[in-house]
Amino acid sequence: MMHDLIVIGAGPAGLTAGIYARSRKMKTLVLDAAAAGGQLVSLYPDKGIHNYPGFAEVQAKKLSERLVAHAESMGCEIAEGCRVLRVDRDGDCFVVGCDDGERRSKAVVVAIGMGLFKPRRLGVPGEEELSGRGVGYVLPEKDKLVDKRVVMIGGGNSALEMAIIADSVADTVLVHRRDCYRADESVVESLSKSTVRCMLETVPLSINGGSRVESVTVEKGGETLDIPADLVVINIGNTPDLEHLKDWGLDLDENGLVKVDSDMRTSRPGVFGCGDVVIYKGKYRQIVTACGEAATAANSAYKFVKKPYWA
Ligand code: NAP
Repeated sequence: MMHDLIVIGAGPAGLTAGIYARSRKMKTLVLDAAAAGGQLVSLYPDKGIHNYPGFAEVQAKKLSERLVAHAESMGCEIAEGCRVLRVDRDGDCFVVGCDDGERRSKAVVVAIGMGLFKPRRLGVPGEEELSGRGVGYVLPEKDKLVDKRVVMIGGGNSALEMAIIADSVADTVLVHRRDCYRADESVVESLSKSTVRCMLETVPLSINGGSRVESVTVEKGGETLDIPADLVVINIGNTPDLEHLKDWGLDLDENGLVKVDSDMRTSRPGVFGCGDVVIYKGKYRQIVTACGEAATAANSAYKFVKKPYWA
């Protein structure tokens, strides 16, 4: 079956692209390798989001449910558990090759977010060996944290927000290498109101343990200290997995992100991009900017497919 538009990725960007495409009555299919919702459900479902306009606070999974319901109410088809392997061209249509078969469309929006990205590794002794045995890159669900000693590593929004969540049920220490944070001031303020113990200007040296994590060795002010720990959560950003995107024939930057122009056009005519996977001058990684880019990408796809008189 031919669609006007296939959107790859059903996070906030992909779903918003779907909503805007449907407002133009484009026959739209949104595909996702996992469940719809993207990082809102895969990385931090219980987290409160405080900067999505119109909601002073909204739980990530609730925002995701609303986005999915909105896209479906507009008539978007959503296919979950469908991993895209290739984006080929056949005459004037795209053939999107998935692990369960092919789909065809006149345009494509790439909105895969961090789906093909890996958490950045700290690179200290013990990290690899104790991975899955107390060392992780995503905060476990709250009930698995109760009465545990958690060491969170990082100074960005993710590390601070996860530390605050962990702190509500666990004894939590935040370790950051600098004397100030990269995170937003409002998040830093929430941290200061929590009981998280913050160790600034502290560099992790090793993660120690036998069958499970027992401690983290850090260097602070020239001294070496051991912090007892049951769980170590490393939250120092993500690195892209270049391999999959390379096969899609798109121009990527040195970090593997998809280069787009101000119309959210990629280097491939008919393929547009939005959300965390794209890069352009001034890029700011937020849910709301991903949604804004998605509206532009859908509008550009509409112009590419329908060629309206005003475009
Ligand atoms: P990030 O903002 O890139 O922060 C990564 C942190 O890890 C930095 O503090 C960095 O330290 C530290 N780090 C990096 N490599 C390290 C190493 N080898 N050893 C020790 N520390 C290391 O990453 P993120 O927090 O995952 O956020 C990613 C993007 O999503 C950001 O743009 C962020 O603003 C956005 N985000 C926004 C929200 C929100 O709006 N509420 C929530 C989550 C994420 P330095 O500072 O010293 O470089």
